[in-house]
Amino acid sequence: MKNIAIIGGGPAASTLAILLCRGGCNVVMYFSPEQAPVLVGESLVPMIIPMLQDLGVEQEVADYSRYKPGACFSFNANEIFSFLFSDNPSDLPSYAYNVPRKDFNATLRNAAKKAGALLIEQKVELKGLPDEDAVQMDAASLQAAAECWDSAKPDLIVDATGRVRLINKLLNIPAEDGPRKDIALFAHVDQTQLVDKGYVHNDRLDQGWGWRIPLPGKVSLGFVVPAGYAEQAGSTPEEQYDKLLQSDQVLKVIAKDSKRITQVMRFDNYQSLSSRLKGNNWVLLGDSGGFVDPVFSSGMLIAMDSAYQLADTVLKRKPMADYEKAIKAHLEAWFEIVGYYYNGRLMTSFKVGEEFKEGPVGKLMVPWITKHMSRIFSGAAATRKVSLNLLRILVKYGLRDEDPKYFSVK
Ligand SMILES: Cc1cc2nc3c(=O)[nH]c(=O)nc-3n(C[C@H](O)[C@H](O)[C@H](O)COP(=O)(O)OP(=O)(O)OC[C@H]3O[C@@H](n4cnc5c(N)ncnc54)[C@H](O)[C@@H]3O)c2cc1C
Repeated sequence: MKNIAIIGGGPAASTLAILLCRGGCNVVMYFSPEQAPVLVGESLVPMIIPMLQDLGVEQEVADYSRYKPGACFSFNANEIFSFLFSDNPSDLPSYAYNVPRKDFNATLRNAAKKAGALLIEQKVELKGLPDEDAVQMDAASLQAAAECWDSAKPDLIVDATGRVRLINKLLNIPAEDGPRKDIALFAHVDQTQLVDKGYVHNDRLDQGWGWRIPLPGKVSLGFVVPAGYAEQAGSTPEEQYDKLLQSDQVLKVIAKDSKRITQVMRFDNYQSLSSRLKGNNWVLLGDSGGFVDPVFSSGMLIAMDSAYQLADTVLKRKPMADYEKAIKAHLEAWFEIVGYYYNGRLMTSFKVGEEFKEGPVGKLMVPWITKHMSRIFSGAAATRKVSLNLLRILVKYGLRDEDPKYFSVK
């Protein structure tokens, strides 16, 4: 497979384009300009840092982003778990960044162009050929790529269209939705209270949870709440957001003097995993294959890590089935970890660990346990079997007599 069409201009598409160009492929990346008036402004996890270094973009990203030394999870006014990545022994970098998203996308697209990809700003139309389990690109898109490929059509079409999920919809590929039926409402505000000006803040709300992501000059403030709860607050996203800001007991404090400076965006469907990720001439990458809700800021990591795995599959001519299996396993692991946040077991086990560490056995065990647990927040737990298995044991057997409901999220 040498001639590759990548549809999408997000981090998954650009990362793949760079890696395939380095491996000698003829890559055309089609992207439509960003339509959304507000992008989240994502918080990255440390496990992405080696990828940014490998792609040669870390310094550029650092120049316009907010340095992120740690994270903080608050459950009540007195129960705030905050930590520096550097406090916990880990083999991963001890920092990440909160990135203004348009800049981040542009940095990666420019790097793809420099690596040799042909970038075409154009919305691709696909036709489904269900009998052949294949898709076909529109004539204008094929024509625009004629100078790049040494054949009339690509050997592989990569759908990296994010939540548009172009091929899923075209071929009616079923997706499995997660157990939560939440929606997200978000906007940028001028300021909020912050424990640290770089931390990603995760706050349990009266219902659901919210994020505060400090960006240069503003804060991305969003809520993930049950749909019915938001709808009780108003009929438009703006009404819902502004009302929750005034009525939620937690937001009333942490965002007391916040002024909204953008319109409000609303996203439905937070957890989804496509039943298939590959066909005869196509493959799904990044959010188009599946996504978990962003409680641990894992989305960009999953998207970029998938690109590394797909590049490896294509360049080493491995079976696409292996790629499909690995990505599904990665997403399923995140679903599981996110589930422990919602049912309260994760934070209960942390709290018990805090008490346990004072005893003689605790003094020996807790540093080792902490090393593995810090991998959840740095993004590595889902791919490291030992850490994931240890987490499973802790959330099942390590709660002593504490009721996990105390830390659960409604
Ligand atoms: C509310 C919310 C909060 C989040 N917070 C975080 C966070 O804090 N940290 C984190 O790591 N992740 C977060 N995520 C997840 C993260 O944003 C996604 O996982 C990530 O953007 C996925 O990247 P992608 O490249 O797969 O898709 P996208 O970034 O969505 O890119 C898809 C691209 O495809 C283009 N496209 C679509 N259709 C076509 C077409 N027909 N032709 C050409 N181009 C097309 C689009 O214009 C777009 O540029 C959050 C997500 C949401 C919704």
